[in-house]
Amino acid sequence: MIPRQQAWIGLGSNLADPLAQLRRALDELDHLPETRLLAASSIYRSPPMGPKDQPDYFNAVARLETGLAPQALLAELQDIERAHDRVRERRWGPRTLDLDILLYGGLIIDEPDLQVPHPGLHERAFVLYPLRELAPSLEIPGRGTVRILCEQVVADGLVAVE
Ligand code: ATP
Ligand code: MG
Ligand code: MG
Repeated sequence: MIPRQQAWIGLGSNLADPLAQLRRALDELDHLPETRLLAASSIYRSPPMGPKDQPDYFNAVARLETGLAPQALLAELQDIERAHDRVRERRWGPRTLDLDILLYGGLIIDEPDLQVPHPGLHERAFVLYPLRELAPSLEIPGRGTVRILCEQVVADGLVAVE
């Protein structure tokens, strides 16, 4: 077992009752092996980032404490996505649940199937705004603090819903 680390997870959904998908996923994160949910942001709604012919997205961010190594955590997240009947069709197409590792401790990981910090983190309002609720002073390696990054992104249409 590796020492416990803090990991930040980005959650997203735009199909099949997104609010319920996110609530269930937060509970499932809290029940992963060697893991507990320390905090969850509000849920935000925003227009789709990719193809426009799909419903609005609902997003949130979770802070975990975990003894799972990064690859083991990724595998667990993908199991949860599958349990939510996630189907991958086109890039950034509609999905019941997306779980991305945003940050894992202070680690920088560049593997074929895992990049941390998540490559989109620093430029996505629907990730940065919920993250700011929980950790405005958090430093994104090579990018600056969450607070500063929020001021630099366009947050058109992003609203907190609960
Ligand atoms: P984006 O990553 O731009 O938000 P997406 O979440 O829709 O797009 P997915 O279809 O969920 O993309 O994942 C595609 C692949 O991304 C996964 O198979 C996974 O191996 C890889 N991946 C790389 N880095 C990460 C990360 N930090 N968290 C989750 N998946 C990652
Ligand atoms: Mg994603
Ligand atoms: Mg993903």
